[in-house]
Amino acid sequence: MLTYGCDAGCFMCDLPQRAVRFKKQKRVEFDTAQMLKVVDEFVSIGTTGIGFMGGEPLLRKDFFEIIKYSDERGLPVSVFTNGHFLDRPTTKEFLKSGIQSVGISLDSVDAETHDRLRGSKGSFKRATDAIANLRALRESSFPHVALSVGMCVSETNLDEVIPMVELAEKVGVDQVYFEALHNYHNDYSPGGLERSYVARHKVSDAEKLDRVIDELLEIKRSNGIIGNSESYLKLLKRSLRGEELPIQCYAGYTTCFVDCFGSVFPCVTYMGLRRSIGNIQEKNLKEIWVSEEYRQLRGELSACRECFHSCNLETTVLFNRIP
Ligand code: SF4
Ligand code: SF4
Repeated sequence: MLTYGCDAGCFMCDLPQRAVRFKKQKRVEFDTAQMLKVVDEFVSIGTTGIGFMGGEPLLRKDFFEIIKYSDERGLPVSVFTNGHFLDRPTTKEFLKSGIQSVGISLDSVDAETHDRLRGSKGSFKRATDAIANLRALRESSFPHVALSVGMCVSETNLDEVIPMVELAEKVGVDQVYFEALHNYHNDYSPGGLERSYVARHKVSDAEKLDRVIDELLEIKRSNGIIGNSESYLKLLKRSLRGEELPIQCYAGYTTCFVDCFGSVFPCVTYMGLRRSIGNIQEKNLKEIWVSEEYRQLRGELSACRECFHSCNLETTVLFNRIP
């Protein structure tokens, strides 16, 4: 994670508020040298790919330097962004920096609804303009860069899931990804962290949910535009029904997450809940990765049923049979 800061204000996300709180506490996010060291530490544990997110990662002035360095270290780079800062010149620099894949958030096919959900007026226009810029420049000089949109699905936008597939085709991205919406309810009062939890959104009309996901599965079987696996789409149905994750999670083995203060988490949800396993300012990532504490945590994670985040589950489903 490059920064907690973000110019948007999505209703399900408290990262921008955390950034303000950290600033008041005079906590300083990692500088460029520290960030490049994080990249080195990922290389040292045999990482096969790195994803940069925020907050909004493009808010960092050294963003391109970090991407370029990761590329030079041999890590395929993915970036997840709200797309607000990808004007034409920035997009060119962005594509030149060595990026392999970029995902842009779109939560509605309707500009006003998207702006409301993202807490940012003009967000839809800026995101779709970014896609147009990425497409135009990619076609001329960077054909290897994968371009996708990602939608957080909840009751609010369930009717827009199929139209989002159509929008993805219209704007010309390679793939569209659907993700179950999660809310992080962090309680910062004394002892509050123990009471923190992740809430998943349950839709009220289960039959409609089934129809929508079944239609997605049909489209998936005939058309390459949907990036999620069939297994994840089936899990999405369960998530939005409010069911528990029905499979063992392998997040402890497949992912590792470091924030811009050096805190290490096994997955994005543990970051949301601030359950860190260590800090790379105290021990290097390799020591943390092979530590007894991490070994014990992997046992805890195997029994964890907290979330349906696709970043972990798409890998985890490869190790499980999905009922
Ligand atoms: S764009 Fe991302 S980081 Fe920013 S508020 Fe929304 S979910 Fe949070
Ligand atoms: S289910 Fe997996 S990815 Fe989700 S919080 Fe638990 S360990 Fe992390």
